Amino acid sequence: MIPFEYLMPATLEEAISRLDPEDPNIRPVGGGTAVMLMMKAGVLRPTRLVSLQRIEDRHRQIEVDEQGALHIGGLATLSSLEHSPVIKKGWPVLTRTFRSLSNVRVRNVATLGGNLAHADPHMDMPPVLTALGARVVATGPSGNREIPVEDLCVGYYETVLARNELISKIIVPPMNDAQAVYFKVTTRAAHDWPALGLAVSLTRSGEAIQSASIVIGAATDRPTRLQQAETMLAGQIPTDQRLEQAGLAASAALDIVGDQHGSADYKKHLLGVYLGRAVRAAMNTTNEAGHEAH
Ligand SMILES: Cc1cc2nc3c(=O)[nH]c(=O)nc-3n(C[C@H](O)[C@H](O)[C@H](O)COP(=O)(O)OP(=O)(O)OC[C@H]3O[C@@H](n4cnc5c(N)ncnc54)[C@H](O)[C@@H]3O)c2cc1C
Repeated sequence: MIPFEYLMPATLEEAISRLDPEDPNIRPVGGGTAVMLMMKAGVLRPTRLVSLQRIEDRHRQIEVDEQGALHIGGLATLSSLEHSPVIKKGWPVLTRTFRSLSNVRVRNVATLGGNLAHADPHMDMPPVLTALGARVVATGPSGNREIPVEDLCVGYYETVLARNELISKIIVPPMNDAQAVYFKVTTRAAHDWPALGLAVSLTRSGEAIQSASIVIGAATDRPTRLQQAETMLAGQIPTDQRLEQAGLAASAALDIVGDQHGSADYKKHLLGVYLGRAVRAAMNTTNEAGHEAH
């Protein structure tokens, strides 16, 4: 292994100052679960790693603001989020999703900021957070800017973040009367990487869908909103026929890519089947943290 510098700054500001907007071999490290795998595989040969482990505790906090929005520090671990009573009460779909993500050893160290910045299209959190209308706060040398999670990833392992910007916070709007589910479709163990991820957040008007946000993961080069399906379902009662049509329209509009979890055709088939299931589950969800297995 080529030797590299390993820094452990005490503040977010100092960490940012040790990153370099021009140098892809200088990287921040949250939990390090993805960074270490990239180094082992030889796709990352850093000259400097900037650990975020010792930066101020406020960047790990979970709070609700006066408007009812959830604020999660970028350095909060996935397990601290999984066990948060505040999240379980107000955003149960997040609690259910955290439980299904990788394994407890990874969740104990992996951070939400690292999960979003990694931009692997198979990640489970970006589709769910996109469906909920969440945004990240990116902090750089000249201050903060907010980016909708929907706009964060621009391709495989690529985000709109500058190399010296850090995700310092994730803000999730209150659910109010929205009902949301995340379907993680795996081909082996339930906590494995998904062959397809499907997040649905909707509001109901009686038996009809008032409006819906539907996001696919693990099948395209980035998490993608299924806008055609959303439009076809808005204001409609989700009959079998409508759901089937929405599934067909969604898969026709997407450039679905196969991988080791399933071919493109298989993923298209899964989308057709699971779009209807996910929408129905969202219509019927009780918004409690305690169920969901697919
Ligand atoms: C065995 C295993 C199974 C897994 N299964 C799943 C799964 O089923 N579903 C799933 O979604 N994920 C899964 N993962 C991925 C895991 O969720 C990610 O590795 C983890 O969330 C990344 O977080 P981290 O803090 O460890 O990131 P790191 O490894 O520290 O960093 C990842 C990337 O983000 C950058 N970065 C880190 N923190 C920040 C920040 N605050 N701001 C800006 N950039 C930052 C780093 O420079 C690096 O490029 C799995 C991982 C493993 C090892």
